[in-house]
Amino acid sequence: MSTRLTSAYVTGSGVAGCLAAIGLRSRLPEVILARKDPGTSPGFLMTVTPAFAEHLGVLGLGTAWNGWPLKHELGIHLSGWGTGATSVSVSTFDPRGPRYLVDRTELEQFLLAQAALVGVEVVYPVEEPWPEPASGRLVIDATGRRALVARRSGGRRRSLSPLVALHAMLDEAGPAAGSAVIASVPNGWWFSARAGRKVSIFFITEPGTGHTRDWRNLWLESIPQTVCLRQRALAATPPGRPMLAGTSWLENPAGPGWYAVGEAAFALDPLSGGGLEFAAWTALRLLESFDRADGPAEYGRAVVRRVGVYRATRQRLYLNALHHHQSGFWQRQAAL
Ligand SMILES: Cc1cc2nc3c(=O)[nH]c(=O)nc-3n(C[C@H](O)[C@H](O)[C@H](O)COP(=O)(O)OP(=O)(O)OC[C@H]3O[C@@H](n4cnc5c(N)ncnc54)[C@H](O)[C@@H]3O)c2cc1C
Repeated sequence: MSTRLTSAYVTGSGVAGCLAAIGLRSRLPEVILARKDPGTSPGFLMTVTPAFAEHLGVLGLGTAWNGWPLKHELGIHLSGWGTGATSVSVSTFDPRGPRYLVDRTELEQFLLAQAALVGVEVVYPVEEPWPEPASGRLVIDATGRRALVARRSGGRRRSLSPLVALHAMLDEAGPAAGSAVIASVPNGWWFSARAGRKVSIFFITEPGTGHTRDWRNLWLESIPQTVCLRQRALAATPPGRPMLAGTSWLENPAGPGWYAVGEAAFALDPLSGGGLEFAAWTALRLLESFDRADGPAEYGRAVVRRVGVYRATRQRLYLNALHHHQSGFWQRQAAL
C-alpha cells in the first residue's frame, strides 16, 4: 500500500489525530491535519499509563515527552471501588497502573506542536465535506466517538453502554503531589485527580431518558453518596452539561483508503484509564499496516481483539462493584 500513497488527510486534532499525523509523516511527504475549532476542547486531568509513553517513544517522541514539563507524576492512587473503604489502588486495566497526570488540552497543544515540528501541515478551518479516499491519498478519521468520516465511508458503530460524565475543575490551595481517587456509589462512580493546584472531579453515570435532564441537580443529589470525595464535589460548581463517556466502537474501523483512529475506532469507558494509550496504539498499528497488502483488514482485526479483551476486563470490574452495590446501575453495567 505504501508504494502508492503520497499524502494523508487527518480529520480531528485530538491526541489520536496528532499521533496518527506524526506517524504518517515519517512515511509520506504530505500530511494534512485538519482542526475543527481550536481552543474549545474542555481541559480536564487524565491519568496516563506507562504504555502511552512507550508508544510515544516508538513514534519518535520519547525525548520530547521526557522533556515536557506539564506532565505530573502520579503519587498516590486511592480506590473505593466496590467497597465502602478506600485502599491504595495499583491499577484498573494496566497492571503497571497509571503513571502521570496530564491536562487534556495541554497534552493536545504539546502534540500539535510536535506535529508541526515534523512537517505536518495543520489547517483550520477543516474542509467539509472531507476529501474522499482516493488513489494516492489516505483519509484518517480522528473525529472522536462521533466517527464522522468513517460513518460516511460506511463504518458501522456499536454501542455497549451510553454512560455520561459530569466534570468540574477547581483550584485547591497549597502544594500537593499528583493524586487520584476513584469511588463507586449506587448510581455510578466518582473520580478525582489533583496535579499541583489543579483538580478535576467527575461523576460517571447513565444518561437516563430524555435530553432535558437537570444535570446540576443530578450532581448535587449524587454528592451525599460519596464519602471520600464529598467535600471536593461540594466545593465544585455543578456542571450544566455532560460529556459522552460510554463504550462504543466501529465494527469496521478501516476500509479501502481510510482508517479510524483513537475514539473514532473504539471509545473506552473512562474507568479503563486507557483511552490515551489506545489512541497512540492505533497510530502505531496504522503505520504497521502500511507494509501489508491486507493493511485495513489486519488493522480491523487488531482493533476487534482489543475490544474483546477490554470487554472482559470491564465486565469483571463492574461485577466486582456489584457485590457491594446491588442497584440497577451496577446490575445493568455488569450484565453488558
Ligand atoms: C470523562 C472522561 C475521562 C477520561 N479519562 C481518561 C484518562 O484518565 N486517561 C485516558 O487515557 N483516557 C481518558 N479518557 C479517554 C480520552 O479522553 C480519549 O481516549 C482521548 O481523548 C481520545 O482522543 P481522540 O483524539 O481519539 O478523540 P477526541 O479527544 O475526542 O478528539 C477528536 C477531535 O476531533 C475533532 N473533530 C470532531 N469533529 C470534527 C470535524 N467535523 N472536523 C474536524 N475535527 C473534528 C474534535 O474537535 C476533537 O479535537 C477519558 C474520557 C472521558 C470522556
